[in-house]
Amino acid sequence: MFKKCTFKGGVHPPHNKNRTEKLPIEIFPAPEKVIIPLSQHIGAPAKPVVKRGDYVTVGQMIGEASGFISVPIHSSVSGKILSVAPFPHPLGKQVMAVEIENDGKDEKAAYKSSENPWREIAPGELIQRIQSAGIVGMGGASFPAHVKLSPPSNKPVDTLIINGAECEPYLTADHRLMLERTEDLLIGVLILKKILNAKRCYIGIEENKPYAISAVKTAIKKNHYDKIKLVILRAKYPQGGEKQLIDAITGRNVPSGGLPMDCGCVVQNVGTTIAVRDAIIDGHPLYQRVVTVTGPAVGSPKNLLVRTGTPMKYLLEACQTDMEATKKVIMGGPMMGLAQTHTDVPVIKSTSGILAYNKTTPGIREYPCINCGRCIQACPINLVPSRLAKFVERKKIDEAVEWNLMDCIECGSCTFICPSKINLVHFIKLGKVHIQAKRAAAASKKQ
Ligand code: SF4
Ligand code: SF4
Repeated sequence: MFKKCTFKGGVHPPHNKNRTEKLPIEIFPAPEKVIIPLSQHIGAPAKPVVKRGDYVTVGQMIGEASGFISVPIHSSVSGKILSVAPFPHPLGKQVMAVEIENDGKDEKAAYKSSENPWREIAPGELIQRIQSAGIVGMGGASFPAHVKLSPPSNKPVDTLIINGAECEPYLTADHRLMLERTEDLLIGVLILKKILNAKRCYIGIEENKPYAISAVKTAIKKNHYDKIKLVILRAKYPQGGEKQLIDAITGRNVPSGGLPMDCGCVVQNVGTTIAVRDAIIDGHPLYQRVVTVTGPAVGSPKNLLVRTGTPMKYLLEACQTDMEATKKVIMGGPMMGLAQTHTDVPVIKSTSGILAYNKTTPGIREYPCINCGRCIQACPINLVPSRLAKFVERKKIDEAVEWNLMDCIECGSCTFICPSKINLVHFIKLGKVHIQAKRAAAASKKQ
């Protein structure tokens, strides 16, 4: 019997995964035109290396990394560059992007598979190839993978954790990858393990994915990958948060303001791990990903393998979404996803899901706080969300900082559990914006 690991706090939103969890990944045809943002990651945007009129192939670099915390961007189709200009981005701002007319030939760039078996490639070279392939965290955070894999010498990492929790309701992209590409996932894990020289290596999967648990367990046994340990996690949100996953599996705590490497851990998502395998073994850069398209307004939900730059509206149409009745579209899951103002925005490397809600979703009325303390019990970071929200509302930002507002992981558990329907996480995000603006102003004064 496996012990089920978990963390303190958290909530139990309905899983809502039943409509897509058994649907195999389908390849979504590349659209006639893609709009590929040059910023699809945390860090400096890529610099364009193509111009209007150029011809590009699938997988060709169209934007180069502009620093260590940056990754290149690759074309997802072959065809002619129509423009390099600002376009709406799913994060709600205008971002430089490359607009490409797909010629339908799907001509591939001259990337090639590795001549050497990956076990013979030095860790530094593996990291460099991962950066060149433009790989970022595909669970939503989009942090460049090579940065996580390059901890400084004063922060030794001994533990690699693969995040197969997929705790956000509705999403099943990682679930399907664990079922359909199990062996590739394990190869990716071994590559990451070699890079980090990690002594311990875990794959954490929530208990509500028994088929994925069984597939991974069988593949580990069959291949005698004894050093990879499968950990079954209790199904609880936000189990897939890095800090919660580390706590549940190792009992270690990431310090306030710190990173997983501060407690000897590196966490990579399932999709990212498979992308690492594809980059190292096949030489493939990251220009497509699995997206779950679902929600109450979607008539025929699916798990789709989608080229980056594909406008979200094409996916919603293909999944028979009642666009007239659609009230809200979210990129990602319902707890931490981002509401979209329109559906022309493209799929990017971190688009794990697209959810559409119809007009029957009831409006939410807010009531005064009744000091029930449920938000405090639910907070996985041990914050006091009700108090933080009040500080921000009353513009007492310094007090909010003293009460560790910046440690909030914006999981939304407090908002979910609040019986008064107070949007606590909204106030906390607002507080972070004020704090960042204040710090930026102070820094510019010093210069
Ligand atoms: S305060 Fe932040 S970390 Fe705590 S429950 Fe709310 S959103 Fe999550
Ligand atoms: S859960 Fe809502 S009502 Fe209860 S203490 Fe927190 S903010 Fe107040």
